[in-house]
Amino acid sequence: MKTEAMAILSTGDADVLQRMEIDLPEPGPREVRVRVRAVALNHLDVWTRRGLPHLRYAFPHRLGADIAGEVDALGPGAVGRVGQRVVVAPGVSCGVCARCAGGEDNLCREYKILGESTQGGYARHVVVPDRNLLPCPEGLAWEEAAAIPLCFLTAWQMVVRKGGVRPGQIVLVQAAGSGVSSAAIQLCKLLGAEVIATTRSPEKATRAIALGADHVIVTTREDLVKRVRELTLRRGADVVIEHVGGEVFEQSVLAAAWGGRVVTCGATSGFFPKLDLRQIFFRQVEVLGSTMGSRRDLFEVLALVQQGKVRPVLDRVLPLWSAADAHRALENGAAFGKIVLLVD
Ligand code: ZN
Repeated sequence: MKTEAMAILSTGDADVLQRMEIDLPEPGPREVRVRVRAVALNHLDVWTRRGLPHLRYAFPHRLGADIAGEVDALGPGAVGRVGQRVVVAPGVSCGVCARCAGGEDNLCREYKILGESTQGGYARHVVVPDRNLLPCPEGLAWEEAAAIPLCFLTAWQMVVRKGGVRPGQIVLVQAAGSGVSSAAIQLCKLLGAEVIATTRSPEKATRAIALGADHVIVTTREDLVKRVRELTLRRGADVVIEHVGGEVFEQSVLAAAWGGRVVTCGATSGFFPKLDLRQIFFRQVEVLGSTMGSRRDLFEVLALVQQGKVRPVLDRVLPLWSAADAHRALENGAAFGKIVLLVD
């Protein structure tokens, strides 16, 4: 049996994404096959496509961590129901170690992300462990459901668990147009914080305000650190949520209040910031690293979506077969929110 995918046979630029026939994947013990209906893009897709040195690719490799679809077949002993509408948790872990047992599966030594270290959702069919299935919130379109998992999970751990954001705090959310930031802005507002968002483009500033940001700093026109000091009456931000890295990381530390927290993930623009360590120890700034979030947290996120308290932000929806165009749009930084691929 065969199915179709938008797979890569080698790493490289967006053109390596090719429509092709692949063998229909068969679910093993405690695994399920999902008929993919929508898959959302993440920066991880771009890095994996360009080539990550620590990965051993099994070509044809399918990218795609954010998957929504229907259960199509059950492997031996798998829990699930054929036809069930599901959202797939993007992280796969061993399920038996102390970290997994403690609800910290994203700290499991076996932790993998779908479409990076495993086959992902850029295909009509994907096989995942049965414990990765979560019920799809009712009333959501496929493209909305696929836009939730990775960015909301990441934002939840950063804002709720690491940032400990509380009512009345001032939170600086860097790069408002990203999926993670569009989720973080909503979560911070839900928790009663005041949000200062940043963006490089005036058009994105309008959208950040519409999402609930109280202030937006357009960093191509204003000095970020100076403006944060003005907006916080010289105090600085209680919590900074940033996934940009590079120079933005340095500015994030400078913009934090004495004793404030900087939560960092992703480092999409650079891994090696220039940093004056006195700005960390003398002002007692806490720097916290974050990657993904636990599967348990995804249940909480989906409950908030079901209640209508947060919503996925979509930039554009394209057919899976236009994945190369979608990758170029993400790489150009043109998107506000998620780019989602629909699978026919
Ligand atoms: Zn484990």
